Amino acid sequence: MNDSASHSRQTAETKLKELKRRLLEISDLNAAGSVLSWDQATYMPDGGAAARGRQGAVLRRLAHERLIDPELGRLLDELRPYAESLPADSDDARLIRVAHRDFDKAVKLPAEFVARANEHGAASYDAWTRARPANDFAAMRPFLEKTIEISREYANYYAPYEHIADPMVDDADEGMTTALIRNLFDALRAELVPMVRAIADQPPADDSCLRVSFAETEQLSFSRDVVGRLGYDFNRGRLDKTLHPFCTKFAADDVRITTRVRDNDLGDAMFSTIHEAGHALYELGVSADLEGTPLGSGTSSGVHESQSRLWENVVARSLPFWAHFYPELQRTFPDQFTSVPLDTFYRAINKVERSLIRTDADEVTYNLHVMLRFELELNLLEGKLRVQDLPEAWRAGMQSALGVTPPDDRDGCLQDVHWYSGWIGGSFQSYTIGNILSAQFYAAAVKAHPDIPREVGNGSFGTLHAWLRENIYRHGRKFPPNELIARATGTPMSMEPYLGYLRTKYGALYRLPAQAS
Ligand code: ZN
Repeated sequence: MNDSASHSRQTAETKLKELKRRLLEISDLNAAGSVLSWDQATYMPDGGAAARGRQGAVLRRLAHERLIDPELGRLLDELRPYAESLPADSDDARLIRVAHRDFDKAVKLPAEFVARANEHGAASYDAWTRARPANDFAAMRPFLEKTIEISREYANYYAPYEHIADPMVDDADEGMTTALIRNLFDALRAELVPMVRAIADQPPADDSCLRVSFAETEQLSFSRDVVGRLGYDFNRGRLDKTLHPFCTKFAADDVRITTRVRDNDLGDAMFSTIHEAGHALYELGVSADLEGTPLGSGTSSGVHESQSRLWENVVARSLPFWAHFYPELQRTFPDQFTSVPLDTFYRAINKVERSLIRTDADEVTYNLHVMLRFELELNLLEGKLRVQDLPEAWRAGMQSALGVTPPDDRDGCLQDVHWYSGWIGGSFQSYTIGNILSAQFYAAAVKAHPDIPREVGNGSFGTLHAWLRENIYRHGRKFPPNELIARATGTPMSMEPYLGYLRTKYGALYRLPAQAS
């Protein structure tokens, strides 16, 4: 290396250090904001709400100001040639790419718009918390109309795009587009609708064993024990109660989960806890080298959801899993389960039914709930569907997809918080992408280690956890989702493993239509 090359490398390294210092500060401000939100959703007395809203907004503003600081943009520009000189797979080259992407996205939004959108989101959410219980869609109409306007305005800051929802889809699931998802959903729907119809024609599974009374303390301790055995490290996390379960990260060694407990629904706390623990395992598995940078968390919403669902559904709703854990559950709840055979319990936790509420839906019908929302939000954004016609479009969509019609809007188009938090578009597709990927990742892990299912039956999850850590978790956001999927599984995203999983599992539980081939 000659003198000037060595000098410019040194300058670049100094600049990279400065970049990381700035990014760490942004990450710390965001983490502090997360601590405030976690507290608000767990222990904060109601009286704290107004001050907490203000404090959270201050932190968000500071983080945003630092993210759009022109000095940061200059650093990133100056580092571009250096990034290109590094091996394409190096952490630093990828860090500069992702930081650039975040910066470019953030600077396109005027500060005035961000403030206006946040304010609207808070007002809309607040109104929804009253309108849903009151079954008052009319009260939400003006809010939703404005939400659509704001979302369209947001998309237009990223024009040109092929479809107005593309910028929102790309925020959550980089590399995905509305057109790709529509194709994927059409193909999946064609398989799922006959499957659901065939199952619905048969006698329903009896899940009454899950609907008796279960003491909260035992529900929580059993859930805590299970997620600990899956690999969730309570020295680096904790479990608390909340209204709507979530997982949140404050640092590489502090990733927390929350759950809720219903006295007469054993599955709620247990599977919510396992679901959130799946998100947490992902975050806890990100390489320590990436901490405090934009690479230090999961790569996309869809891939994140694949990890929660892999543990919740593919592992913890499987027969081998319960062959191991059921005796323990029976000891925890002897009055409720001593006389219930394992097979009855297994059928109960995998009961398929046409229901009204997405969050309560089983694995088979769940995606139909998602597809309905995705179609409707596209129609709203495209201007093909007027807000006033949404309740009717919802009822018609439920009837055609699932064969049930909600009796009111509370359990219809008002049920999910997503559209009433200030944005519409780009958030529902991740759930179905997550389902599809959960099976694809699991199949790849089993292909590499055929012993995994037997180990799960012994209550041992180390090999599976290690494969996920090695192929997915440790990379954080270093690789965009499509690249990560191809590296981990050898193929692009494919719904075949997922369909194969559903056919095998539900074919054993119900008679399914013969496959057209
Ligand atoms: Zn989730």
